[in-house]
Amino acid sequence: MALTYGASDAAIVPASWVVVDERVRLKCLVPLCYRAGESINCPPHTPEPDLVRQALARYRWAILFKRDVEPAAPHVLKPDKRAGLPPSTFHNGTYDVVGNLEALAFNDGYYLALGFSGGSCKAAFCRNLPCQALQGGGCRFPLRGRPSMEGVGIDVFDLANKVGWPVYPIAHKDVDPASIGCAISVGIVFVH
Ligand code: SF4
Repeated sequence: MALTYGASDAAIVPASWVVVDERVRLKCLVPLCYRAGESINCPPHTPEPDLVRQALARYRWAILFKRDVEPAAPHVLKPDKRAGLPPSTFHNGTYDVVGNLEALAFNDGYYLALGFSGGSCKAAFCRNLPCQALQGGGCRFPLRGRPSMEGVGIDVFDLANKVGWPVYPIAHKDVDPASIGCAISVGIVFVH
């Protein structure tokens, strides 16, 4: 079903493979990501790693998937913020796969199904509007907006390596783009 919803590949993984590491969440804050604090789903507003680690330890299985983002070139180099940031569509489809899988599992009886996407829901959906949830109202996209894997401390690179998916960080502007093999966006749904 992940493939039906737009994933390029998917794997059923033991939940015990998922590493929650304080350093991952801290990387959203040091150096400060330009999306940090902008939405209720980004650090420092996301659940603390201890809570996430304890909760995820209660699951046995998860569906991990990736989306190949093509063309990769516009996404592999860190944009120059001084030149203005382009609207990000990198993770948009990932939110949809996560939301659909989570809802399907929920309706199939897995009522504790829980999914995390990648990146920032503000970048994906609300763009220039302030986060409504952060202002005390409801989220504009309650079934789509959610924290990223990295925002709750999940080591996404480690998981990609475990299932054999090539993965590269968004590179410094002076890195040769030819040295970056692909761009992927990753999501996960803990099912049971
Ligand atoms: S999608 Fe929801 S949580 Fe995310 S920025 Fe918009 S209102 Fe806030």
